[in-house]
Amino acid sequence: MRTKLAAGNWKMNGTRAALEELSAMATAADKGTAEVLICPPATLIASAVEQAGPIALGGQDCHDQPKGAHTGDLSAKMLADAGATYVILGHSERRTDHEETDALIRNKCRAAWSAGLKAVVCVGETLDEFEASNTLDIIGGQLASSIPDEATGHNLVVAYEPVWAIGTGKVPTVQQIGEVHDFIRSRLERRFGAGVGRSVRLLYGGSVKAANAEEIFLTSNVDGALVGGASLKAEDFVPIIDALN
Ligand code: PGA
Repeated sequence: MRTKLAAGNWKMNGTRAALEELSAMATAADKGTAEVLICPPATLIASAVEQAGPIALGGQDCHDQPKGAHTGDLSAKMLADAGATYVILGHSERRTDHEETDALIRNKCRAAWSAGLKAVVCVGETLDEFEASNTLDIIGGQLASSIPDEATGHNLVVAYEPVWAIGTGKVPTVQQIGEVHDFIRSRLERRFGAGVGRSVRLLYGGSVKAANAEEIFLTSNVDGALVGGASLKAEDFVPIIDALN
């Protein structure tokens, strides 16, 4: 059985005052069996530890090198030292804003694993690719090239986030979400074998909110969600956690 995962990506939002939101989220996390993960800005990870309770903490990116002359960057080990147990890698905003390639994301994944972090690797097609019916080709390529061979059900989570659904309020149909998640599952099984392939958790991300969470969570091979905007406030995120439990 895969443990369900409600993951929040705060992106570049929040100062220390935002950590107040964690207490109600922690209460919701305590009530159910689903795992809850918050990825705040890295500046908040160390102080979040005290208020997080059962909530796991994660970074939103890491460098692919363990240390050195990389001004402004953070290593996976630094995130782990601050209290993170996860890191999001290859988010479409990183792929776009920082021109991250699949090869770089694969290296970052290895760096994360070396530091003992679990990687949440994001894949997803753009609107043009979606409209050209290229979704599965794009996802297949991203999976093959962004994930290292050493993946396990413990160290890897895959998040399917259609770029056109992020922050837009647009969501694919549950049939489309199911089709892509089934495809990701079959690719993971084919590459890593049934044991590993079936144990990796698959998250849907892109405009998840309380109103659509329940339906999405009933979809084939959806083990939870990666939530942006609706993870910033407990009043929005707690119903999503509850829907998973
Ligand atoms: P959103 O973002 O929930 O605000 O659409 C999701 C994400 O980018 O992870």
